[in-house]
Amino acid sequence: MKLILLGAPGAGKGTVAKLLTQLDGSVQISTGDILRAAVAAGTELGKKAEAAMKAGDLVSDDLIMGIMGERLKQDDCKKGYLLDGFPRTIPQAEALKKLLAGMGEKLDCVVNIDVPRDVILDRLTTRRTCTKCNAIYNVKSNPPKKTGVCDKCGGPVVQRDDETEAAISNRLDVYNQKTAPLAGFYEKEGLLMSVNATSSEAVINAIKKRIGMK
Ligand code: ADP
Ligand code: ZN
Repeated sequence: MKLILLGAPGAGKGTVAKLLTQLDGSVQISTGDILRAAVAAGTELGKKAEAAMKAGDLVSDDLIMGIMGERLKQDDCKKGYLLDGFPRTIPQAEALKKLLAGMGEKLDCVVNIDVPRDVILDRLTTRRTCTKCNAIYNVKSNPPKKTGVCDKCGGPVVQRDDETEAAISNRLDVYNQKTAPLAGFYEKEGLLMSVNATSSEAVINAIKKRIGMK
């Protein structure tokens, strides 16, 4: 399947994407994960992205399109992909449309995961991430067995730099301004599917139904 997962930070895009990869071998492509890896490795890309990310602002469209133009051409995308955190602006959506048309590819649908703001705020402040394998935990609902240590890979589980109260509030504002308009864009394209759900299982079931998967 070829999907875009749309939704505010903390809506559960990453969790849903990880569950979907288990269904048919599609790969999860998270621009946030790619950027964090670049920052950790201290690459040129990482240096360019770091300040914007820390403040909860968006990285430039050019930088993101450079990454995605390369990423979508890789072999593992043949089985399908789940775009998590991309596109995030109208120019990125327009550029993606051209890119896919050039590759002769079509998206199945764009899933807009709608979660109330208070739920989002609570989730983001309690979220913890493994810096090694990107597994996601929650101090309240899904803590690692040993505090601060990833169950899956033993890596350090920490609160992200952009998950302080100030950065979170900025990320939500940026989302409402720059990314929320994508729902209208994809509605016009006939690709939008909105799910009003707080459980990832309900989201997965709605997606399966829409794309005709058992
Ligand atoms: P979130 O949990 O907010 O969805 P992500 O892991 O997707 O976070 O992204 C973290 C940060 O990486 C964003 O706040 C932004 O600075 C940058 N980023 C990720 N994807 C994009 C994108 N498509 N366009 C611009 N910036 C991006
Ligand atoms: Zn891990």
